[in-house]
Amino acid sequence: MDNTVNSQNHIFCSFCKKKENEVTKIISGPSGHICDQCVLLCYDILNKKNLNTNKSIIPLPTPKTIKKYLDKFIIGQKKAKKIISVAVYNHYKKLNSLVDKNTVHIEKSNILLIGPTGTGKTLIAETLAKYLKVPFSISDATTLTEAGYVGEDVENILRRLIENSNYDIKQAERGIIYIDEIDKITKKTANVSITRDVSGEGVQQALLKILEGTVASVPITGGRRHPQQETWKIDTSKILFICGGSFFGLKNIISNRIYNKSNIGFYKNKKKNVFIKNHHNLSNKTVHTQDLIKYGLIPEFIGRLPIIVKLHDLTQDDLIKILKKPKNALIKQYKQLFLFDNIKLKFDNSAVIEIAKKAIRKKTGARGLRSILEYSLLKIMYKAPTLKNIKSIYIDASVIQGKSSPKLFFLEKKI
Ligand code: ADP
Repeated sequence: MDNTVNSQNHIFCSFCKKKENEVTKIISGPSGHICDQCVLLCYDILNKKNLNTNKSIIPLPTPKTIKKYLDKFIIGQKKAKKIISVAVYNHYKKLNSLVDKNTVHIEKSNILLIGPTGTGKTLIAETLAKYLKVPFSISDATTLTEAGYVGEDVENILRRLIENSNYDIKQAERGIIYIDEIDKITKKTANVSITRDVSGEGVQQALLKILEGTVASVPITGGRRHPQQETWKIDTSKILFICGGSFFGLKNIISNRIYNKSNIGFYKNKKKNVFIKNHHNLSNKTVHTQDLIKYGLIPEFIGRLPIIVKLHDLTQDDLIKILKKPKNALIKQYKQLFLFDNIKLKFDNSAVIEIAKKAIRKKTGARGLRSILEYSLLKIMYKAPTLKNIKSIYIDASVIQGKSSPKLFFLEKKI
């Protein structure tokens, strides 16, 4: 008898033996049949197998390729991008090599980014994660408190990453965590609220273990840990931690170390025995561990962040490029917004320069660009959709300065 049909001549699935009328569809081959349910099951099995193999090895681009990718989105910060590309390459190379247990143990290369606000610290971390297709999360160090105080446990940082990995712990273990405002948990930081520990030192202590690598218990429901709570276990030894902060005032500590005098004012040139006006540029001076200890980070904490990268203030030219160049550059975004209403938005070069100048005056780096544009364009964005026959809008420096309104151009009337 044909073994693909039963005694009543019913076709059945060669895998699960279900009859044709018990399933939605049966696909027939030369020597057997398969039902839709078994097809889905096989698809799942194959997919899982692929996922597992993908998890163990991350396809790794070279530092040069990583830097090239960063160049597309991050303007300036050439040196920082180079150092970070190498660090990230080494980190994931190490993870890939963990597949072979016999290789030498290489220590973790977490990164500390030091730079003024709005210079691209978060953007770099985010762009890296996107490029490497690894889970990513951002946490704010100022919300963290050591156990026993009201606030967030440091484990919440890990929960955010697990959530962003769709609760796939294995994936999360290869992710990148960005911890912002790390300079606000220094020993000296004044108590920002009565619920917070007296200084940030307790938080630094609490972070040590997860930065270094431990199997942490993360409460599934969030909030504070308690004994009966269900937890996820996550190994943090493969997670790349990138910490960032503006470290306001660090310049003076570096200046003191180098010139034995404050950055502001005069310093004494010992050789010539004269006082010289202190106009030196400290932005290219290396940050020493000692400087960070003076700033208020504890040595053990700095030890867990062996790669220290300085980001520089963005120049006017950098800001102009940020406005125009990246794929989702702000100017392109606003042009597109107007184009939805069939209106061409044009920026005179003077307008772009003026936006950059204003942002520099605000001292918020590239962060201030959007609000300047939003403020300058608000009136016209309100009015334009109701204006009839409008063809294009022209913005020059005086519009950004608030001295005049945008010039409007209308479609010519057909006679
Ligand atoms: P921070 O250094 O404070 O972490 P962010 O990375 O969050 O700053 O930057 C804020 C916004 O400013 C980013 O979303 C991005 O649009 C823009 N930006 C900042 N720095 C750069 C840069 N170097 N290149 C391109 N865009 C930047």
